[in-house]
Amino acid sequence: MSTSPIARHGRDYLAIPGPSVMPDAVLRAMHRAAPNIYAGELVEIAASLVPDLKKVARTDGHVAMYIGNGHAAWEAALANTIAPGDTVLVPATGRFGHGWADMAEGLGAEVEIMDFGKRAPMDIDRIAETLRADTAHRIKAVLAVHVDTSTSVRNDIAAVRAVLDATDHPALLMADCIASLGCDRFEMDAWGVDVMVAGCQKGLMVPPGMAFVFFNDKAAAVRAQMPRVSRYWDWTPRANPEEFFMYWNGTAPTHHLYGLRTALDMLHAEGIEQVWARHTVLARSIWAACEAWGQGGPLELNVRDAANRSTAVTSLRIGAPHGTALRDWVEQNLGLTLGIGLGMAPPSDPDWHGFFRLGHMGHVNGHMIMGLLGGIQAGLGALDIPHGPGALDAAAGVISAG
Ligand SMILES: *Cc1c(COP(=O)(O)O)cnc(C)c1O
Repeated sequence: MSTSPIARHGRDYLAIPGPSVMPDAVLRAMHRAAPNIYAGELVEIAASLVPDLKKVARTDGHVAMYIGNGHAAWEAALANTIAPGDTVLVPATGRFGHGWADMAEGLGAEVEIMDFGKRAPMDIDRIAETLRADTAHRIKAVLAVHVDTSTSVRNDIAAVRAVLDATDHPALLMADCIASLGCDRFEMDAWGVDVMVAGCQKGLMVPPGMAFVFFNDKAAAVRAQMPRVSRYWDWTPRANPEEFFMYWNGTAPTHHLYGLRTALDMLHAEGIEQVWARHTVLARSIWAACEAWGQGGPLELNVRDAANRSTAVTSLRIGAPHGTALRDWVEQNLGLTLGIGLGMAPPSDPDWHGFFRLGHMGHVNGHMIMGLLGGIQAGLGALDIPHGPGALDAAAGVISAG
């Protein structure tokens, strides 16, 4: 192992699955004096965000904006649709499904969790069975995580809609796209999603602080039947504000609005289909490198079938203590920060040190991903962790082929 961090100084690279890398243009847009919150540019920017957010989500429905993180979006979606005593079905494929379920429990919901483990997507047939058995239609909503950021499993959300329709079940389909929006293909209307939650700090490339709940008319009708909804979380005035302050039920997140305006301009200039294609190629290059390393050592992609992998985040298994050692080495020696393994083992368990994750969501391109992979290659070598050859060639080959 090298004794001095000879290659440490330079621009740091946070390659964790959120918060993501922020474009300099977003940071520049935010770097300004406090704007007037009663009239002028800021008021216009806020209104302009609505259609552009809906364009990213591929919906003609409504969007409510909140000051908050992903957990706030979870709570907001539930607060508008789920009353104490209502039942929700949560098909979990990692830590985040359990997180949303816990939020629902905190609001007094009856939670039915279907746990599909940590390496596989939802089993749609088993969900269909559960829905078919629910002849009394007790289940009021299915809370489905599109990309589970802990396992990097990507679920087939349209397939959940198909089984809801096939079983004639009226439950709302709610999707967590906090990790996937602006990275993995997501089509809210075409896939029949009623409620979708997102945050600004992953594919949307803005510092943490804004959360979004998208909803359609069916979900709005459910909201209208709720016995009560807390004033703060109520999505109705936020989606249809009569006055500017109603967008956020108070002071607007002023600088975030400038940042998000710039980020959405960048996304739409590139084109959302193109954004998805970029994430796909970069993810495939990462998988190719990992497969090559794995040929001669313990590194393994957590999700075996590429069809079930997110293109925004990759979860890896390498065995303890290699995961933590590798993260520490690349951070201390290269200024490169990799994601911790989340939810794969309890933090007190020695096995916890056998996992890590790569965030490749948002503002990333080919040279950044090659740098990320090159850093891991250097770390594997420095730490004498066995690994197969040809990983960087394999990744470069995927990027060259496009
Ligand atoms: C990041 C994330 C969350 C939680 O977001 P916070 O901003 O940390 O509250 C929830 N779900 C998914 C899928 C995520 O990736």
